[in-house]
Amino acid sequence: MKAALLYSDNLAQYDFGQGHPFRGDRYPRFREFFRANLNQDNFEIIESSPASDEDLMLVHSEEYIHFVENFYRIQASGIDVPGAYRFLSGDNIPKPGAGNLAQAARLICGSSKLAGEIVAEGRYEKAIALGGGMHHASREYGEGFCILNDVAICTLNLKKKYGLERILVLDTDAHAGNGTAHTFYDDPQVLFIDLHQDPRTIYPGKGFAHEIGRGEGKGYTVNIPLPLLAGYDSYNLVMEEIALPLSREFDPQIIIRNGGSDPHFADELTQLGLNLKGFHMIGERVREMARVCQGKEVDLLCSGYNLEILPLGWSSLILGLMDIHQEFAEPFPEHPQGKEVFIKTEEVVAEVKRNLQEYWRSLG
Ligand SMILES: [Zn+2]
Repeated sequence: MKAALLYSDNLAQYDFGQGHPFRGDRYPRFREFFRANLNQDNFEIIESSPASDEDLMLVHSEEYIHFVENFYRIQASGIDVPGAYRFLSGDNIPKPGAGNLAQAARLICGSSKLAGEIVAEGRYEKAIALGGGMHHASREYGEGFCILNDVAICTLNLKKKYGLERILVLDTDAHAGNGTAHTFYDDPQVLFIDLHQDPRTIYPGKGFAHEIGRGEGKGYTVNIPLPLLAGYDSYNLVMEEIALPLSREFDPQIIIRNGGSDPHFADELTQLGLNLKGFHMIGERVREMARVCQGKEVDLLCSGYNLEILPLGWSSLILGLMDIHQEFAEPFPEHPQGKEVFIKTEEVVAEVKRNLQEYWRSLG
């Protein structure tokens, strides 16, 4: 079966302007690389369409949605909006030359929502929504370049529209998905597994191993804070020791993975050590995890702050996911992962297991 690839030229409007690390050119850049280097027979391109207010209100308050619409329109005309910091962090303020961010954020949510629907309905086994994975946004707050949380919208729409009761969200972005974690912190129907750089060393400073959920949701948030320079072997260990066993025991009806190329060793905003082979391996592991749910998987891609790496990392993830053996050469010199980094990862894995073994037999 072909995989669906959801794309729109309007994604390029998700652009915070000159000098900001998140620019809209990442999308056409990927699209071009994808066309030139991947076999197009394996994909069906589907045009994304924007989410409605009702969709956005699955996660966000009406007041916040209204603020987003107004703020980015007024800001674009160069006028300052007083009180804006109530709803957003400094890194979500656009710079000169920014795109139509409110509209693009809505488009991303619509795209991730549709990706979930076509997989849930069995129209495609796998759907890849470009632009998705805005995991830092929460109900009334936009931060970390994320305005609206499409991961949470996609998940909650699947619960509401199809009555799904077991959804596994796997976040492999280099940063912890604090907005997604917050949304599902007390929800036992959503198992949230989040691999990210040690929060003591990077934004958003959340996602410690002891954060495991609350109330009925206790045990359903799994944070795996990786040591600096964690690379292929560390990621492989975590996928084998934690993500795979948990996916078998939780037995999800669908898997939603998000995260782009920012764990790569040459990324400019992070200090991890993943290589392109590692992205391919993660894709393969996710494919393996999805065996329990007839392969049903939604893949959301937006991050990456080395634009040379970005299309290579995204493509490696996609190819791994589809079990296609195609490799790309690393454009930057690679240093093998040090033994001490692997030992630190083993310690993290042991800690995660200790914290969660009373909830999961497979981690005991
Ligand atoms: Zn990130």
